[in-house]
Amino acid sequence: MISEQIRVRFAPSPTGFLHVGGLRTALYNYLFARQNHGVFILRIEDTDRSRYVEGAVENLINTLQWVGLDYDEGPIKGGAYGPYVQSERLEIYRKYAKQLVDEGKAYYCFCTSDRLEQMRTELEQKGEFAKYDRFCLKLSPSEIEQKLKSNLPYVIRMKVPDNTTIKFYDLIRKDVEISSELIDDQVLLKSDGYPTYHLANVVDDHLMKVTHVIRGEEWLPSVPKHILLYQYFNWEVPVLAHLPLLLNPDKSKLSKRQGDVAVEDYRAKGYLREGLINFIALLGWNPGDEREIFTLEELIKEFSLERVGKSGAVFNIDKLNWINLQHIHRKTEKEMLPILKEILSRSKYKDLFFSDDYLEKVIHAMRERINYFAGILEKSPYFFEPPKEYDSVYIAKHWKAETPDWLGKLIEEFSKLNNPKKEDFENALNRTAEALGLGRGKIIHAVRLAVSGMGEGPGLYDILDILGKEEVIKRIQQAIKNIKL
Ligand code: GLU
Repeated sequence: MISEQIRVRFAPSPTGFLHVGGLRTALYNYLFARQNHGVFILRIEDTDRSRYVEGAVENLINTLQWVGLDYDEGPIKGGAYGPYVQSERLEIYRKYAKQLVDEGKAYYCFCTSDRLEQMRTELEQKGEFAKYDRFCLKLSPSEIEQKLKSNLPYVIRMKVPDNTTIKFYDLIRKDVEISSELIDDQVLLKSDGYPTYHLANVVDDHLMKVTHVIRGEEWLPSVPKHILLYQYFNWEVPVLAHLPLLLNPDKSKLSKRQGDVAVEDYRAKGYLREGLINFIALLGWNPGDEREIFTLEELIKEFSLERVGKSGAVFNIDKLNWINLQHIHRKTEKEMLPILKEILSRSKYKDLFFSDDYLEKVIHAMRERINYFAGILEKSPYFFEPPKEYDSVYIAKHWKAETPDWLGKLIEEFSKLNNPKKEDFENALNRTAEALGLGRGKIIHAVRLAVSGMGEGPGLYDILDILGKEEVIKRIQQAIKNIKL
């Protein structure tokens, strides 16, 4: 038998930014496609017009591109089974909905929203499962024709069989079964002519020859309806794999309240795409041994759906930070320069000029002290502007009444230096301390405070080397003027 080509899809709805859960779904689909030399499809599921967000599709494509998950077929790129945007496929869904009506597997429903509301409330009050009461299933063909002719708004509902058990197999959840009694006569085509998710999803997965459906667990309850649709159309059901939920550290469902959930936010903070991808890959999957650091290429080799667990995966930001740092270790300053530049271009320093050489030195000094690149601006703003204030605890500890005099001597020494490097600053500081008969520490702490305003940071001589003689002298003079005991 010729084995069929693997085709998977990522099918987001353009309702806002790409969520980290969405990125995980995209990543697993991508890894599975690439390791099987299959096809990775991007399909935009935009049939819920009320949730449509302007610019969301562009943002999505842009974000996927940023993380490096290139799709093979989809919007803009096209492909043999397009269009890949559901709102451009309305005629197709209408045709299939109509086919089901003609075959008696679906029916027109003209109930008003008021009637449906009332019916639901009554059922709920009785404590019953609020499903449609099939009022319109009893309409005669002539009544239906009459209503259609008078242009009454309608939906098309699927006819769910009574008292049947619907069974399916999921690669991750294994055997699942559910009674059809728990399934509503699902609307397939809405009164605005748009399909619901269920119809569009099944029709497209079939027409786009999708072989494996890999998506979040929140879609598991929809599967029985889909299984029925596959049966009604007499189509083969793709292999199903529902990925475990993403959880907050307190085990509640991952939510905005406990941190950033948009991939965009992590990009803006300056996480490396490699770090983010590596971390996301481990949310539900593990390699079966102790290894934790993977490149995208390595993930393509190692990933397997069989090793995706079914229990919820905790989104632990400390882990992300650690993994990101491991990827920072693997990069040169030059490689990381564009990230720092992008962050600066969105910061309050955007109009200032810093040379590449300067920024590379800043990265070198800070790379072991950050988890993401915005951390450079947070932890060492003094590389981009002189300190506006000085740490009072550090002043109390290290700034004495005599400090201005000592620093005055130091300025004299520094002024004599010609194009000083790190060691030259160090030697000059040592000479000054010696001449004053002081321990070096007394001066070192005061200089750190003067140039950075802070008590912590990279080695003092690295800071001096980066800032340069003129700036260092200017800042020490300023501190002498500004720090009052
Ligand atoms: N449009 C759905 C979403 O927004 C896709 C679910 C699926 O993959 O079937 O996640």
